[in-house]
Amino acid sequence: MKSMQCRNKILNAKFLRNIKTLKENLQISRLTNFAAKDSQSVYGEYRKRNEYLVELVNISRKTELSRKIKELRRTDIMDSKKGCKSTTNPSTRISDSIPVSNGLKLSSILFWKSEEDGENLRNLVRWRLGRIAYHQPFLNCSRENLSRKHAVLCSGVDEVLFGKYEVVESFQSHTILDTLLNKYMFGNHISIWKDVSWAINQIQKSCLGFTI
Ligand SMILES: [Zn+2]
Repeated sequence: MKSMQCRNKILNAKFLRNIKTLKENLQISRLTNFAAKDSQSVYGEYRKRNEYLVELVNISRKTELSRKIKELRRTDIMDSKKGCKSTTNPSTRISDSIPVSNGLKLSSILFWKSEEDGENLRNLVRWRLGRIAYHQPFLNCSRENLSRKHAVLCSGVDEVLFGKYEVVESFQSHTILDTLLNKYMFGNHISIWKDVSWAINQIQKSCLGFTI
């Protein structure tokens, strides 16, 4: 769920940083440095539209550059005001339940080899994206809008999973499914992921009327 706008701004800033330090063609590099000082130039326009430019363009060391880029992207991902702009619905804050690592490492649930694992993990990804038991207006079991909290309780998977895993580390806004997925985000945890996938299927049967 990376913000395209953030990535574009970073790419532009990297490009201008490269031009400013271009050794192959000193004339271009000099021209860019000259334009950078003039607020009326095209470069000045870029700077107004791209808040990352100032931060990135003067970093000299490559390692420092990649560290800074990761930091900017992480801040962008964690910005709760973004992501809900494109929809007319208010944010369900589902993304709040997923921690973002400093190194922006992708969760292991995004990678699979066998078809069976793929089926299970696709379920998990859909849950993480908020495509299951979101605030849907119509449902089987309650007249109010469906929520993830309702779904884990109503389907009984909360009790089953707590009984099996005795997960203590939990937060009020999280469901047991998110707590487990956060705890086992990295590495190989096929049996746990299978249980979470089972739970998602149960939720779909009891609250959404699926017959699978
Ligand atoms: Zn229900």
